[in-house]
Amino acid sequence: MRKRLEHLKAEAWKYINDAKKTGELDEIRVRYLGRKGELTALLRGMGQVLPEDRPEVGRLVNELRNQLETYLEERRQMLELAELERSLELETIDISLPGRQPPLGHVHPLNQVLEETKRLFISMGFQVVEGPEVELDYYNFEALNLPPDHPTRDMQDTFFISDDILLRSQTSPVQVRVMEKQQPPVRIIAPGKVYRVDLDATHSPMFHQVEGLLIDEGSTFGDLKGILNAFLEALFGKGRRVRFRPSFFPFTEPSAEVDVECIMCNGGGCRVCSQTGWLEILGSGMVDPRVLEMVGYDPERYQGFAFGVGMERIAMLKYGIDDIRLLFENDMRFLTQF
Ligand SMILES: [Zn+2]
Repeated sequence: MRKRLEHLKAEAWKYINDAKKTGELDEIRVRYLGRKGELTALLRGMGQVLPEDRPEVGRLVNELRNQLETYLEERRQMLELAELERSLELETIDISLPGRQPPLGHVHPLNQVLEETKRLFISMGFQVVEGPEVELDYYNFEALNLPPDHPTRDMQDTFFISDDILLRSQTSPVQVRVMEKQQPPVRIIAPGKVYRVDLDATHSPMFHQVEGLLIDEGSTFGDLKGILNAFLEALFGKGRRVRFRPSFFPFTEPSAEVDVECIMCNGGGCRVCSQTGWLEILGSGMVDPRVLEMVGYDPERYQGFAFGVGMERIAMLKYGIDDIRLLFENDMRFLTQF
């Protein structure tokens, strides 16, 4: 009996020492101390022991049971500590690592220019007005001094939806709609999408225009020059020369195209400005009295001026973009540069 106890103890200790997880210790406990455990079975078998030996054997079995309990508990605490350390090590946070920056979106270069333009004109007392992109022929052409047989209509290829409905080819119809509803003074800009049948490196079938209109008593070409100078200075920087060239537009008289000193070569001449040192930026002029008459204004009392500028061209010049299509392709490699 004594031998069996010693053998059992040696075996149990070996199992306990080999256990790698606390779960294995539970199995060992059941195996020796459980209701059907080996040590329990020994106690049950006391009947076979000689009566005079029973107290001594009983004492040894109890002693072994206590030792086993104690050792199991010791090992359990050791294993639990090791497991805790291991899991802490796995979950360690290295606070010296730099944080990960989530990618931040930003405003499209075209919208940056549009917003800047709006802000500037609002600061000069202009109101921002919008109008329909699907427009009547009347507002896009006729009310702007372009009757159906007028040769200037051939100047632009327009997307017609039906005989008298089209995709607006300019934002000027917004001006007519405002003038029909409102008596002077009028001081508006109309930003928005316009459409023309055109596609190459500098033309897109859809592009953005901002047109401005000011109608009041006593407004002059000098006011037009002052406002456009302020606009171009804000966009391209102070001190840049601006020039007005006589031109022709159907609904303004006199008309002028406005050039700004080339922002690539500062007037010296380069590929972007075709060696002229100047960049065509916008069209402008004094509103033709016939246009004022058509909306019921008295041209003897009111004068005004209008101007129109393509936002894509401004963005391309300002940011040195050489193909208009880049603005619409949504290529992240391009967009993240701004
Ligand atoms: Zn140049």
